Amino acid sequence: MGQVINIFFINISIIYLVLSLTLYLMRQLLPIQTGSPYAVRIWFGLAMGLAAVLLTVNSFQVGEARVDLRIIPLALSAAYAGPIGVTVTTGLTLLGRFALDGMTEQFVSSFGTLGLFLVLSLGLSRLVLRRGHLYSAYLVFGTVLVLFRIAGNVPMHAFTTVFLPYFAITFLGGWMCYWVAKQIETHLRMFRLHTQRATIDELTGLPNRYMTLERLNEVEMSGLPWALFVIDVDRFKQLNDTYGHRAGDAALHHIAQTLQANCPPDGFVGRYGGEEFLMVLEDVGDVRSIADDIVTVVRDTPFSFEGTTIPMTVSIGATLAGAEPGTVVFERADAALYQAKMNGRDQAKIG
Ligand code: GH3
Ligand code: MG
Ligand code: MG
Repeated sequence: MGQVINIFFINISIIYLVLSLTLYLMRQLLPIQTGSPYAVRIWFGLAMGLAAVLLTVNSFQVGEARVDLRIIPLALSAAYAGPIGVTVTTGLTLLGRFALDGMTEQFVSSFGTLGLFLVLSLGLSRLVLRRGHLYSAYLVFGTVLVLFRIAGNVPMHAFTTVFLPYFAITFLGGWMCYWVAKQIETHLRMFRLHTQRATIDELTGLPNRYMTLERLNEVEMSGLPWALFVIDVDRFKQLNDTYGHRAGDAALHHIAQTLQANCPPDGFVGRYGGEEFLMVLEDVGDVRSIADDIVTVVRDTPFSFEGTTIPMTVSIGATLAGAEPGTVVFERADAALYQAKMNGRDQAKIG
């Protein structure tokens, strides 16, 4: 009995390891659910299949049968990735089993068990059930299937030494695995959300002030020459006063998209604050012509709000930077911007 419990604990550890690694690697794709793209469900199914194969390798032999906690990754695959996940997990599980034991009677009967499991998942996927309830249904059904398969095939003493611990650990471990999966998923999703909130400007979708200055700092630390453009929308207060704040917000979004679309590939653009944007170029080309092009493209890209076309222009203060503090570079670009404003706006000045 001690050895059986030991093997089942190894089983649970394998599931934990594969599950947490999988969720971490798929963190940008969370939540994984039956409505996720095919590729996501297939990857999750493959990962759970890998866990199932590892469990088969670490199984407990009772007569001809291999007893392990394969039902847990299978139930996870079904609850998270639906019939597609089950198909992939089942396929991999059978392959693993075949590679280990060849074409045995057990292999053929596990075909039947897994087939029934797939039919169940096809049926349950049509019902609108909470994922936790679905998971419980799969766990219970899978365990009952195992019971039917082995009933009569194993010696009586195996019931107390193998199958009692099997049922206890399947339910206890199965629920712990699901709970851990939910916790990891929630943490990863929250982390992604908070990172996004902390670094992306909600209105424009550009890096916010914090992120922009962080990246500017990185460029500055590289020690290579770089260029800074301070870009300010012209007479924006007037636009707000004339067309309203909603139009102002839409205008900022429009400008941000235009700048992003016309930012050279080796540079980045971020919202520094209000109606002011920073563009940083790491591979300094012809600063004059890049700045002039941005002024032209903003002037020529029409912005319309609720049927009204609103003309928009920007002024730019640009400067080349060497090995000097970012604050000095910024002040120079800002002074150039002031010159552009004084000179009538809708133009770029190099400082
Ligand atoms: P200049 O050509 O000299 O730059 O004039 P300006 O009107 O663009 O400059 P000013 O600094 O006087 O006004 C900036 C305005 O930008 C004031 C503020 O209400 C507006 N603003 C700042 N952030 C937002 C925002 O997120 N949404 C909206 N709608 N307006 C904003
Ligand atoms: Mg302005
Ligand atoms: Mg301003």
